[in-house]
Amino acid sequence: MSDVDKVIAAVSEERLWQRVLTMAAFGGTAKGGVNRQAASAEDAAAQNQLMAWGAARGFASFRDEIGNLFIRRDGEDATAAPIVIGSHLDSQPTGGKFDGAYGVLAAFEVLEAIADAGIATQRPIEVVSWTNEEGSRFTPGAMGSGVFAGSYRLDTTLETKDRSGLKLGDELAQVAVRAPAPFRAMADMRPAAYLEAHIEQGPLLEAAGIPIGIVGGIQGIRRFSVDLTGEEAHAGTTPRRLRKDALVAAIDAITTLNREADAVGEALRFTVGTFAVSPSSPNTVPGAVRFSIDLRHPDDATLSAFDQTIGATVEAVARAHGCPGRVERISRVLPTTFDPRVIALLRESAALLQYQYLELMSGAGHDAMHLAKICPAAMVFIPCLKGISHNEGESATAGDVVAGARVLAVATTRLTAR
Ligand SMILES: [Zn+2]
Repeated sequence: MSDVDKVIAAVSEERLWQRVLTMAAFGGTAKGGVNRQAASAEDAAAQNQLMAWGAARGFASFRDEIGNLFIRRDGEDATAAPIVIGSHLDSQPTGGKFDGAYGVLAAFEVLEAIADAGIATQRPIEVVSWTNEEGSRFTPGAMGSGVFAGSYRLDTTLETKDRSGLKLGDELAQVAVRAPAPFRAMADMRPAAYLEAHIEQGPLLEAAGIPIGIVGGIQGIRRFSVDLTGEEAHAGTTPRRLRKDALVAAIDAITTLNREADAVGEALRFTVGTFAVSPSSPNTVPGAVRFSIDLRHPDDATLSAFDQTIGATVEAVARAHGCPGRVERISRVLPTTFDPRVIALLRESAALLQYQYLELMSGAGHDAMHLAKICPAAMVFIPCLKGISHNEGESATAGDVVAGARVLAVATTRLTAR
């Protein structure tokens, strides 16, 4: 029996599923969801549980400057860069059992399966739980992985405050007291490669009846704020042809942009999610409208082209309706492309296991987008019920949960030998 076959046989659906349920009790809600926000007492308790499972197997734990937690199984070559696998244990305030925790527990199952199979890997393997992926208590999200990969500064990130004025640095110090782990400076560990398993948070895998998604990358995001300024006027006395109705102009702009977005194709995600009319009075012609645009696509050039379409459309509409327009770009996040060799390895791993897989792009951000800047990285998705996440009703089947862990196990075993 090959090492890979031994590891596949050692991955336990029962053990992994029980761990998912056990972990969900930390911050568990009455509706069956999870409220385990970053650097909270519940987050610390979850980390303690993970470390306890690790200690029972003789794995070491470490925590770095930003609170990222690592569980390590040594390799034959103790000085070699480790293969790092994991995700995050923090959740949204009304989150579910799987977003984040699944990736950490699938990674831990891989570590245990390799230990159970009695395999001495060449490289060390480390399971990671990144600090504050969700970004709901402290913003932005993916802070732990962002600082680790050099995308964000450590000092300013530790100063971030939550809504009640508590500082991330102080809250992480509390976590270190509640869930003590030896300190290891992040500069002392550079991954050889990074793998992350996650629920899809979208409907494609479930709809296709396919258990595994191999993620090619994470789409880029641009956010805009659009203002159209008309003229407030009496609804009864002002003839329509003399009006400068900002709402009519805004509807024209949004309708045109939706049509333009459809013409680009399904991969372009164009959303107007907020819309404010002023003065919002039933008998006054609207004098001003502000709306948001959230624009996503895997290719930055496509985003740039549509960025120009937005500008041109708002300008044309403004002229036609006599309502000056202004488009402000609030943020721009570049798309992530995962490593082709790691993607190829995931394809081989799924094929070896005889799992059908779908190649897709991630619509949501993940810790892997930061890791991809410093080492070869890729992600595995599993289906979740109706694609629902950031919701207490989040659900996945035990069969899909273990399928994702097996793909991760095969790929990790192969990576440690390279
Ligand atoms: Zn997540």
